[in-house]
Amino acid sequence: MKPLISYQQTLEILTKVAHNHKWDKQQTVALPLALNHMSAVPVKATIQVPSFDNSAMDGFAVVAEDVNQLIQQHGTAKLQITGRIQAGDSDEVRIENSEAQAWEIMTGAPVPQGFDAVVPVEAVHTEGDYVTFEKAVKLNQNIRKAGTDYDFGQAVVGANQVIQAQHIMALATVGVKNIDIKQPVPVALFSTGNELSDDTATADLAAGKIHNSNQPYLRAYLSQIDCDVTFEANCQDDEAAFELLLNQAAEKQVKIIVSTGAVSMGRYDFIPSILKKRGATIHFHKAKVRPGKPILFAELPDGTLYFGLPGNPIAAASGARFFLTPLLRMMKNMPHEPTILAKTLCDIDKKQGFRTFAKAQLSLSKTGQLQANMLTGQGSFQTHSFAESNCWLVLPEEAEHIAAGEYLAVLPMIPGSLSVS
Ligand code: AMP
Ligand code: MG
Repeated sequence: MKPLISYQQTLEILTKVAHNHKWDKQQTVALPLALNHMSAVPVKATIQVPSFDNSAMDGFAVVAEDVNQLIQQHGTAKLQITGRIQAGDSDEVRIENSEAQAWEIMTGAPVPQGFDAVVPVEAVHTEGDYVTFEKAVKLNQNIRKAGTDYDFGQAVVGANQVIQAQHIMALATVGVKNIDIKQPVPVALFSTGNELSDDTATADLAAGKIHNSNQPYLRAYLSQIDCDVTFEANCQDDEAAFELLLNQAAEKQVKIIVSTGAVSMGRYDFIPSILKKRGATIHFHKAKVRPGKPILFAELPDGTLYFGLPGNPIAAASGARFFLTPLLRMMKNMPHEPTILAKTLCDIDKKQGFRTFAKAQLSLSKTGQLQANMLTGQGSFQTHSFAESNCWLVLPEEAEHIAAGEYLAVLPMIPGSLSVS
């Protein structure tokens, strides 16, 4: 029997394949729809923000020197209030005469040309049309100068940036209405197994049937990693039905097919043989990982990539997290995910030689250190512990016993969600 390949070797294969399958299709979307997608090109500011000098406070616009001279001469400066300006008023205003004067001004209002400082309303006394200042005023105080947020041509987001809410704020600020994003990768999603209940009809289970956990999970997870499930279906353990789905996926021009089940050693695990029959290159089948050893990765003659994830729900999930996700990130030129280390809170025993992906809970110690607790219920069929988990704990191949206090790599459930620069 061929020796199983290591996780590291599978990554090397995935890296080569990603290199030949770079994903750079673009589309233009309205800014609010760009959330969680990747920018395709750098976006630069075409305006200045603020685009005019404006007031940072509610108060009075003045010429600093006028106020300061009067204070020097008289101890206070009493100025006539000759105008008022609020946010939204035109910035094409200038003070009309050169006499010392003040304008009432609101936060965000343009500072009329000629004035060079704003004194907050809390710092003055007003009486009728007059305002009195007691303290010296600094040039430009409380004025937000044009271009001090964004200047012309300043980068707002780079290429390959996952657009998050904070980027949407900045893009909106500079007036971007539409943005070029990388198209989500079109994916077909199949689950196989005679045991899968047709959940669309009823929530009750017929004898011997189970609810389909993988399909809804993977649909949700795939959307979190910027894939678009454009075709999904359930399939009995039936070769002809499966071949029909492959034909349909080809018509729909998906880039990746993800299936669950039917890749192990059982009598009805027909996927590897059908793929071979159709001329696919099997890049790897079975790896030294737990859960999910039977994982299969192949390429069909038309260039469609194929992930055959095992049927056990946690094996399907770890396959998507640790194989499909790095492939997609590399296809889209995203950076590798950083390795985050956390102290394990418990002793761990594991099978030597297998990289093991454990359901775990990440928390902070009293001193703010990351710590991880491997949850009980690590069976690949056990979903309750997956629901309790907030991270994956990666147990290295060589280890058989890991003592509490040792550092282990953790990966967030949503790739990139714990990223640091
Ligand atoms: P398989 O990989 O097809 O041998 O399936 C392995 C185990 O996963 C079996 O116990 C299946 O019943 C279970 N399984 C397969 N597909 C699903 C699914 N979509 N949802 C939940 N469990 C599944
Ligand atoms: Mg099966």
